[in-house]
Amino acid sequence: MIYDLIIIGGGPAGLSAAIYALRARLNIVLIEKTAVGGQISLTDNIENYPGFPSLSGIELMQKFEEHARGLGLNIIYDEIKEIADNGEYKTLRGANESYQAKTVIITVGASPKKLNIPGEREFTGRGVSYCATCDGPFFKDEDIAVVGGGDAALKEANYLTKIVKFITLIHRRKEFRAEKIIQERLHNAKNIAMELEHVAVSINGNKTVESIIIENVKTKEQKTVPVKGVFIFIGIKPQTSFLKNIEQDENGFIKTDPYTLMTSMPGVFCAGDSHSKKLLQVATAVGEGALASTSATEYICDIC
Ligand SMILES: Cc1cc2nc3c(=O)[nH]c(=O)nc-3n(C[C@H](O)[C@H](O)[C@H](O)COP(=O)(O)OP(=O)(O)OC[C@H]3O[C@@H](n4cnc5c(N)ncnc54)[C@H](O)[C@@H]3O)c2cc1C
Repeated sequence: MIYDLIIIGGGPAGLSAAIYALRARLNIVLIEKTAVGGQISLTDNIENYPGFPSLSGIELMQKFEEHARGLGLNIIYDEIKEIADNGEYKTLRGANESYQAKTVIITVGASPKKLNIPGEREFTGRGVSYCATCDGPFFKDEDIAVVGGGDAALKEANYLTKIVKFITLIHRRKEFRAEKIIQERLHNAKNIAMELEHVAVSINGNKTVESIIIENVKTKEQKTVPVKGVFIFIGIKPQTSFLKNIEQDENGFIKTDPYTLMTSMPGVFCAGDSHSKKLLQVATAVGEGALASTSATEYICDIC
């Protein structure tokens, strides 16, 4: 069977694209490698998605999924490994089987960047974490470190202040990049200390994490901070390494035409965090999903 459209990835961008395509009466399928919901399911609270002043990432994504399923969305669980251009249709090679479609929307999002310091890999799952909602409760009344200075780092640190005993927040710059409203909230917390202009050098322990060594970026002076957990939020990298035949920027984000979101492969579009742009948020992912879907619909009309 040749679908009108295959959407790769079931995060906010993919589900938004699906809603628009189903309302355009396209014959579509969404292929997801793990669980529908994407990265936002990792956060306990989202407060900047219009219409929903405060709810958990999981709750928001359940609403997206219900909406799309209500329109008849079919979801297949498989990991796409390659897209081949056969002209009028594309072949998607999955881990389980192959699929064919006239158009494709890539919404594969991103995964957390690593610090790449000694101890990080060894202690992942044994004190090192990239998800506060998933792992925060394991550190109830313990001392932990949070590494990062952007929106995600400060938002997740704020959540963790309500669970853990004390947080050392390590940030390599003098100032934070996070939204001012998130910064203000964190400054009111009593159980957090900022180690600005410091970087993490190594994570140490025996069976589990016992300490983190940090270094002043100017003086190079090092100190050991005893902690049971290290939460790392230093940005994301796109999950696009399997798409080498599609043009990407120097960081692996997929390049698109700004008007249609079509990639360098005709009939293949990209939306959300895997796409090269300034603001990586649910609101932008949703808008781009809608645009990519509309462009895919027009592309099908043009070729038929
Ligand atoms: C801790 C944290 C807190 C955040 N807080 C906020 C916030 O408060 N407000 C906000 O607006 N944004 C927030 N964000 C950002 C937001 O989550 C992302 O911008 C958004 O999820 C991007 O959506 P997406 O659909 O592009 O990608 P993703 O959400 O990354 O979804 C991509 C999906 O594609 C799947 N996938 C990947 N590769 C393949 C493949 N080869 N085959 C099949 N499926 C594949 C993945 O499993 C995933 O389900 C936060 C992010 C994090 C990590």
